[in-house]
Amino acid sequence: MWAFGITKKLISDVTKRPLSDRLPSHGVERLDIPKPTINDNEVLIRVKSSSLNYNSIWSALCHPLTPTQLISSFIHRNPNQIDHLKEHYIFGSDAAGEIVALGKNVQNWKIGNEVIIHCNIVDEFDSAIQDDGMLSPSQSIWGYETNFGAFAEYTKVKCSQLIKKPKNLDWASAGSFCLTLSTAYRMLISKNGARLKAGDTCLIWGGAGGLGSFAIQIAKLSGAKVVAIVSSDKKKKICYDLGADVVFNRKKEFPNKIINEKGEPNYMAWKKIRTLLNKNNIDSINIVFEHVGRETLGLSTYLANRGGKVIICAATTGYLCTLDLRFLWMQLKTIIGSHFANYNEASFASDLIFNGKINPLIHSINDIEKLPEMMDKMYLGNTYGKIVFNHDE
Ligand code: NAP
Repeated sequence: MWAFGITKKLISDVTKRPLSDRLPSHGVERLDIPKPTINDNEVLIRVKSSSLNYNSIWSALCHPLTPTQLISSFIHRNPNQIDHLKEHYIFGSDAAGEIVALGKNVQNWKIGNEVIIHCNIVDEFDSAIQDDGMLSPSQSIWGYETNFGAFAEYTKVKCSQLIKKPKNLDWASAGSFCLTLSTAYRMLISKNGARLKAGDTCLIWGGAGGLGSFAIQIAKLSGAKVVAIVSSDKKKKICYDLGADVVFNRKKEFPNKIINEKGEPNYMAWKKIRTLLNKNNIDSINIVFEHVGRETLGLSTYLANRGGKVIICAATTGYLCTLDLRFLWMQLKTIIGSHFANYNEASFASDLIFNGKINPLIHSINDIEKLPEMMDKMYLGNTYGKIVFNHDE
């Protein structure tokens, strides 16, 4: 079968380049490999559609960890999953497709069922999952920390990763949303996240991105006031169309450098941004939706109001940053770490799509051969929403 990912040989080539010279397309190639063999609790799926997440960019850049390191850690935590150790690794954490084979212990699913894959792999016998599967030490992200990801003709997943696809949902939409929507849902709504409520004001970085486009819709649906930040007027219009109340183009309207070269705060810039928000009748920010990391976490902590929350799930611009802790403790703010979503949260989030309450923002539907090109575009910030791949053409 065909698949897109990286071989051990290519990992060795990519890691010889300095990080600043790498592009995602350097670390992804088309592979011709055997179909996966399923275990007793797994299903084989013929993939109909998939979508790109930023974790595949990290995989292809071999940064901060190489796929070999990620999968070794997965096997260390899940020793019975040794079959994930191969000479090649297949990327991709969002897909939808049709079940074509069942392991002998799989119940409640049939060959021919149309499914959406929930990318959380956990050990079903770990008692931690009764509370929150994300707290299980076995927890891993399928197609990032594991092999056999979405960008392939066939993939295999545990039956505990399946969500039933409604018949009336088109394949492109079905394969587009699960990772980013579920992450945004946990961050904003779940008891494990910021517990956003009607009347709150929520500031969303990267409002037109994969996470941000869902965060805007979820926050508006919950009755919050939404302030979104983006880097172009085109993305600004996208955020207003998604329902945001106030949107800023950071490249035009914010001061140039919000941290210096060492990553330290530029307090003058921060004050100017607060003044700009105040002039736009944004006097109090209850929740900041963070995933940018190094460049913005200090500012996010400064902008949150007394008692406010910064909820963070990523660090696109870097994971080592400077925080002025005075803004945290003197004003009783909280920074909450968040990561993907348990099955329950993903199910609630998916229902929002199934019931037509929110919609995926689809940038484009592409032939899978365009994956390396689209990965570069996403890395360079030239995309918005979700980049989808149709596997049937
Ligand atoms: P995306 O669609 O590429 O969006 C990222 C957004 O970040 C862009 O739209 C961009 O917005 C914004 N951004 C980039 N550099 C910035 C800067 N210097 N200052 C302010 N904003 C900046 O990616 P995504 O799917 O939303 O994912 C975002 C991050 O979250 C990635 O690092 C991803 O790996 C991570 N993630 C983590 C989880 C988890 O479970 N932990 C789940 C999903 C994603 P503008 O340029 O328009 O401002």
